[in-house]
This record gives sequence, C-alpha cells and structure tokens, in this order.
Amino acid sequence: VEQRMLDAVSLPSVTQDGVEVILRANIEGINSAELDMARRYSAQGVGLYRTEFLYMQESRMPSEEEQYRAYKAVVENMAGEIVTIRTLDLGGDKLMNGKSGLFPMEANPFLGMRAIRFCLEHKEIFKNQLRAILRASAHGRVLLMYPMISGTGELDDANKLLDECRAELREKGVAFDEKMPVGTMIEVPSAATTADILAPKADFFSIGTNDLIQYLLAIDRSNERIAHLYKPAHPSVLRMLSYVVEQAHKAKIKVSVCGEMAGDPLYVPLLLGIGVDELSMASSLIPAVKYLVRAMKMSDAKKLVHEASKMDNAAKITALCNAFYNARM
Ligand code: PEP
Ligand code: MG
Repeated sequence: VEQRMLDAVSLPSVTQDGVEVILRANIEGINSAELDMARRYSAQGVGLYRTEFLYMQESRMPSEEEQYRAYKAVVENMAGEIVTIRTLDLGGDKLMNGKSGLFPMEANPFLGMRAIRFCLEHKEIFKNQLRAILRASAHGRVLLMYPMISGTGELDDANKLLDECRAELREKGVAFDEKMPVGTMIEVPSAATTADILAPKADFFSIGTNDLIQYLLAIDRSNERIAHLYKPAHPSVLRMLSYVVEQAHKAKIKVSVCGEMAGDPLYVPLLLGIGVDELSMASSLIPAVKYLVRAMKMSDAKKLVHEASKMDNAAKITALCNAFYNARM
C-alpha cells in the first residue's frame, strides 16, 4: 500500500463535494489479525462476516455455543461498530472439510445445494446458527443477512425460523437485540430483478457482485479458462445494480456492495454514481478506496454512470472508468 494512501486512512471518508461514503471490512473470522487490520485502516465496522469459514476447518458442525463465542468475540472486538453477520454460505466453492456426508457431489455446485438452500434443508443446523447470532446481538450492533436469496419464499421461510429462535430465547430469558436488522444479499439475478418485491421485506440489501456477475453472465467465478469473460463493467451488470439501488431507495432501505467490485478503485466510482450507500471490502483494500473517495466528486461519479449507460459494451465502460481513475490518482 502506498504511503499517501496509508496517510488517508485516519481522515474522513468524504468526497470532494462533501458526500460521506461508508467503508466497512469483509472478514472471515478465523484469526484476529483480520480485525486488527480492519481497525488499523479505520473500517466502519464489518459489512460482511463470512461465517462458513468457521465450519470449513472442521468435519463437524460447530455447536451453538462455539458459534456464539466466536461471534461475540468479533462483536466485542469491534466495540460498538456494526458487525454484519452472514448466515452459512456452504456449498458452491465453500465445502466442509470432507467426511460430513452433508455435501454429496454435484455436477453444478454453484447451481446446487448451497447457502440458504442448504440451511432451509437442514433446519437444526440453521437454527443453531440463528440462535448464536441472536445471542451475540446482545453484545453490540449486530446485523444479520442471508446469502443466495432468490425470492420471497426463501426469505419468508428463513425469517420464520428466525422468529422461532427469538421465541425460544425469550422463553429461556436469554438476552438478544429485539431490533436486530435483518437484510438479504442480492446475488442471484432473480432476487435482483424482483428487488421491488424483496425490499419491503428487508431492513437492508447487500449486493454480492461476485455471485451476481457469475450468475448474470453465466461465468463460473472459479474457472480460470473463462476469467477474461468475467466483466464487472458489462452493461447488464450496471443495469441490474441500478435497478436494485433504485428499488431499495424507493423502499427506504440502504444498499451496500460487499463483493470484490466494492474494493476495486476502478469500479468504485460506478457503484457510488449508481447510488450504492456503503462499500465493504477486504481491509487491505480500504486505503486505496478511501484515497480515491477523497479525490473524487460524487457529481462526477454520477456523470460517469450517465456516460457509461450510453456505452454498448464492457470494454468501453472500463475505458471510461480507467480515465476517471487515472485523472484522480
Ligand atoms: C459475493 O458473492 O459477492 C459475496 C460477497 O459473497 P461470496 O464471495 O462469499 O460468495
Ligand atoms: Mg456470494
């Protein structure tokens, strides 16, 4: 990381024309070095806590108690800042350490028994996690979000189980935050295109561009042979993001982006120009993104998006982004 970027880390995350841009950290919650870096780079809390990594180390599911302790440690470490805990996203590219028998081979794991689908199929595993998250919410500002939601059915089913967990904890007199916000990730095209239906049922949206782009462009995100076809600046991606943000704001909820696009200074102006409220990224990327935010105007980002919307392919949009970036760095 360049020194001028490190110097920006302790300064406000505000554009030249005075718009605040919230930058949060993505963590995987296995070692505390991650949290140290998040604090060192002044992350405004955690925008994505990928909890599946707790599970991937072992061949058995961690107990509610073990999860509670892990989440509580993160929440206490972030001392009053927001911690957005994502429920299990196992399956796809994130498999457990063998032997559990819960993940039979699939021909198309990214289209298979993954994330919320797995959790709704294995309700006790899911409820253990939901109770652990609820209990952790008593210790700070916890937000919960569900991965891979494809429509209202899954969101309603997940929320029903969450309500059962709340009732169980209340009955036992166990403390939790009754007002814990519950959001949904937007990373499946069917969720994005029905954002108007999902938004009134969610406290916030967090767009997972890694998966959204994979599913929208039909490009396996882990297949190196086609990596050159994976295009965050594809006009279809911009249209989809614009629609999601527009519908979220109509329903008065905030939208964050927590996929890799949010940590790429080349694309950050596009996201901000579209109206994304918050960005969450690997902590190591915060200095470069913050430096750019401080060097740009929001009004220019809006113009950039307007220009980009007239382009007919990703290469032209990327060229616009390059010019925007180079003029400010
Ligand atoms: C995403 O899909 O953009 C995302 C943030 O989730 P993950 O990378 O963990 O699938
Ligand atoms: Mg994802």
